[in-house]
Amino acid sequence: MPPEPFFAGQGFDRADYLRADPAAIAGLLSHDQALQLAWDNGAPAVDQQGRLRWEAIAGAPQLFLGFDGGSPRFAALPSGDAPATAYAHFQLLGLLDPGEAPTFAAALSLANWHRRHGHCSVSGRSTEPNRGGWSRFCAGCGAEHYPRADPVVIMLAEHDGRLLLGRQPQYPAGRYSALAGFVEPGESIEFAVARELREEAGIEVRDVRYLCSQPWPFPSSLMIGAHAEALDDRLTIDRNELDDARWFSRDEVVAALAGEPSASFQPPMKWAIARTLLDHWVDGLK
Ligand SMILES: [Zn+2]
Repeated sequence: MPPEPFFAGQGFDRADYLRADPAAIAGLLSHDQALQLAWDNGAPAVDQQGRLRWEAIAGAPQLFLGFDGGSPRFAALPSGDAPATAYAHFQLLGLLDPGEAPTFAAALSLANWHRRHGHCSVSGRSTEPNRGGWSRFCAGCGAEHYPRADPVVIMLAEHDGRLLLGRQPQYPAGRYSALAGFVEPGESIEFAVARELREEAGIEVRDVRYLCSQPWPFPSSLMIGAHAEALDDRLTIDRNELDDARWFSRDEVVAALAGEPSASFQPPMKWAIARTLLDHWVDGLK
């Protein structure tokens, strides 16, 4: 079984065949089981049981999220701006039920995109939501714009049974995690992994393998988890990007994942794909 990160599971039936039929979507607004997502400070509202909060339809919410069973689910565009970093949502993510996380990610990512794309990138004119909120249309020049997900590679580099992990300056004290970086235009996943490890840690790698991926709605990324074999363990750390990077033994990783007080580092939170990659690596060595 491939590992399944937080946010990555089965969400709603998106019923994308309905997006070209605005009359059908409008008709679903008066469905007796139709509901719309509640927002809280620009993020999907979560109750004390970790479930998303839904409300009766009010007005004409512009985002059609799909069907939960037979129940059509919508969201209005939230007012105001949501904090773009996961750290701002720490409490919420700690509470969120994993089964609700895929819908949380889809709604927040989509809303984040709408918030930042009110104007056409071709003509600069105002755009309007279209296709149940899965695109925006510019009546000025006829351009249609679709929501984007920005690919990010995040990888475990391994050498002689040890893993390379690093710290970014904004991490909490003691936290180490997998190195990561945006995939650039014209670049494959494999070369992005090799380039980021060369730039940030000064190592060369081979045998880059894809492991699993995760939607990351802060604001709208697709995290691509990978593993690579390092040719040697001499590091040249880019101090502009990282506070530190080190090699960790299997025992150190096991102690950190178990939350042992004597552990040499703090692992990433459970909703980060880096945590999934570490769990998977340790399991694979059993
Ligand atoms: Zn335009």
